[in-house]
Amino acid sequence: MIKLSNISKSFGQNQVLKSVDMTVNKGEVVVILGPSGSGKTTLLRCLNYLEKPNSGEIVIGDYRVDCKHTTKKEIHALRQKSAMVFQQYNLFKHKTALDNVMEGLVIVKKMPKEEAKARSVALLEKVGLGEKLDSYPSQLSGGQQQRVGIARALALEPEVILFDEPTSALDPELVGEVLTVIRNIAKEGITMIVVTHEMGFARDVANHVVFMDGGMIVEEGTPEQIFHHPKEDRTKQFLKRIT
Ligand code: ATP
Repeated sequence: MIKLSNISKSFGQNQVLKSVDMTVNKGEVVVILGPSGSGKTTLLRCLNYLEKPNSGEIVIGDYRVDCKHTTKKEIHALRQKSAMVFQQYNLFKHKTALDNVMEGLVIVKKMPKEEAKARSVALLEKVGLGEKLDSYPSQLSGGQQQRVGIARALALEPEVILFDEPTSALDPELVGEVLTVIRNIAKEGITMIVVTHEMGFARDVANHVVFMDGGMIVEEGTPEQIFHHPKEDRTKQFLKRIT
């Protein structure tokens, strides 16, 4: 289980997260929706400490961190428990697809190279890139690069995969292939938190939907509750605008 309690984050005078509480059960796919600037990405980044929350508590499995007093060791341990799939892929440009996936296993997890290679090849095959092991990011389409990003996250076997608008940088015709890969992973029972503007995908794949606005969780529930019976005016207005 993942539990965020009272997570607050400010950038200067701008308070972007206002005491956010969120629980994600094991195997659940949580989709976070909300208008631009509502704090969705910042919440994901706080969860794996790409941003340091100003206060609050993060629990992942049996690991608990008080964000006011974190040591380097705790941050390192926390980061190993989640993996982020970024909007802009964030691949190493001078490394092949295979090396991009292997990197974290060899460097961070200290896995022997042969074992890391076998796992990375299997994962690249799983995301449909068995033929592209030796391609560099510049030789891959956006959708293929993002699938490498997903294989890289899976390789680390984290407790949760965090997807930060994974399809928003893609040309429309490439969105489907990436969403299909994410759908397939979701079926395997991997815990995922997904920030997305893809409503059809959110409806299909989410077990739980969180609607954020103004740095707070305004409403959350099943896709049925949020999409068909939203209670809060802000949720209703948002859904009206984007669907
Ligand atoms: P979008 O859907 O547009 O990606 P979002 O809901 O993910 O938006 P965030 O990216 O979390 O929103 O940003 C929330 C607020 O925090 C915005 O006002 C943004 O300008 C601000 N912000 C985010 N990162 C930083 C940063 N590193 N420094 C200063 N301000 C930031």
